[in-house]
Amino acid sequence: PVLLLSMYISWNNTLNSKRNFLRVLLNDWNYYALCQLAHTDELTQLNNRRQFMQMAEKTIQKWPKYNLACLLMFDIDFFKKINDTYGHDVGDEVLRILAEISRQEMRYTDVLARFGGEEFILLFPNTSTVKALNIAERCRIAIAEMRFFTATDQPFSVSASFGISSSDHANEPHVVISQADQALYAIKAAGRNQVKVFSDLG
Ligand code: GH3
Ligand code: MG
Ligand code: MG
Repeated sequence: PVLLLSMYISWNNTLNSKRNFLRVLLNDWNYYALCQLAHTDELTQLNNRRQFMQMAEKTIQKWPKYNLACLLMFDIDFFKKINDTYGHDVGDEVLRILAEISRQEMRYTDVLARFGGEEFILLFPNTSTVKALNIAERCRIAIAEMRFFTATDQPFSVSASFGISSSDHANEPHVVISQADQALYAIKAAGRNQVKVFSDLG
């Protein structure tokens, strides 16, 4: 009986430590999943606005190392009309595909996020305005050339307008964002489906 009892205790201990191990693993996993949820936009799986601002702040702290950083904002043209004409689900699919297209144009160090409803934002560390313009133009063309489909399989296309601003380490993120926004809205007024740099605004 003593032997049996000691075997039982040892078996029970092993079981308990396995249980504890699994509990810790599950807690870690839940914590990780919650963090991901808090930082990620559900529809596009891109960073959300809050996460973007945090990452931008961190990147900006490193800016003295960099020559120049650029910020790009883009907004889908006449998106309300797309929703109204083809339905909200088709609109959602357009947002998902645009997120994927812009993700493909990005480099490893760039930070991409869904900034608002149909507005996306990108931070390019250590990047000249010419290079940012280049990336934006590639993105603009990829979006304009993409074919989307309605619920009844009718093809349609969309376009987007892009605003770019640049900064040295002295600039606050909200200043750089506001300048990209001004460039973007200048393009909306000038006919859309184009890229504009803030410093070129008249
Ligand atoms: P503009 O070219 O001036 O940008 O015109 P617009 O129609 O794109 O701009 P407006 O701000 O008038 O409309 C934005 C629309 O985006 C309205 C809103 O219903 C839609 N929208 C915002 N978030 C979502 C979303 O998550 N899914 C869908 N399907 N539509 C969204
Ligand atoms: Mg908008
Ligand atoms: Mg729009």
